[in-house]
Amino acid sequence: MKAELEKLIALQHTDTNIRHIKNELDAIPQRRAEIEKEFDQRAFEFKAIEARRDAAREKRVKLEADLALTRTNAEKAERDLMSSTNEKAYTAAIREVDTARKQISTLETQILEQMEALEGAEQEIHQHEPEVAKLRAEMGEKLRAFEAQTVTRTQDLAHLRTERERLMASLPKQVGALYHRISSRIRDGVAVAEARQGSCTACLMTLRPQVMSQIRRGNEIIICDSCNRILYYNPVEKSQPASSAVV
Ligand SMILES: [Zn+2]
Repeated sequence: MKAELEKLIALQHTDTNIRHIKNELDAIPQRRAEIEKEFDQRAFEFKAIEARRDAAREKRVKLEADLALTRTNAEKAERDLMSSTNEKAYTAAIREVDTARKQISTLETQILEQMEALEGAEQEIHQHEPEVAKLRAEMGEKLRAFEAQTVTRTQDLAHLRTERERLMASLPKQVGALYHRISSRIRDGVAVAEARQGSCTACLMTLRPQVMSQIRRGNEIIICDSCNRILYYNPVEKSQPASSAVV
């Protein structure tokens, strides 16, 4: 029986570590998102300048198109002016030429404004570049370290699962079934608890001296009356609880 108890303790260590790693891996998408969010927040100012630059560029393209169209209209109005044969046509053509010229002047001013805005934004972007490059490098490094950690932990998990299967297979069927029954019922999944100084270390319930000596002998499986965990005795002074992670 002693050997079986040792295997049960090992099984408990393995299961605790499996749960620990699974929790870690489950938190990965959230932790990734947090790293990206942190970058976005710190690069917020920079992104606002980029947005300003893009807006100025877009406006300029639109104004250039308007200008080309207005110029075509002005040329047509000028031709009409030259070919006008009567007073009325002449007056109308002159008005059109005048309007078109005013529009051209306005558009040219607006284009200049957008060019200045674009230039200003580009200068600011240039100034911020080293800072943003540093932030981006930091984020990349964090994500890469994280990626490497994920790979390692996934390997650890696979290794622990193999170990668990091996331990389960080495236990008598009814002992394995008992462990499974207890661990699936208990919220933290810890089915094995150390009995120390006359109490169960999981629920702190005092154990009768007779029960304590049975546990010490280790010839049979003793279950805690209070929390239903399998109890074991560790003769080593500074013992490690079965629930602690060792990976
Ligand atoms: Zn207990």
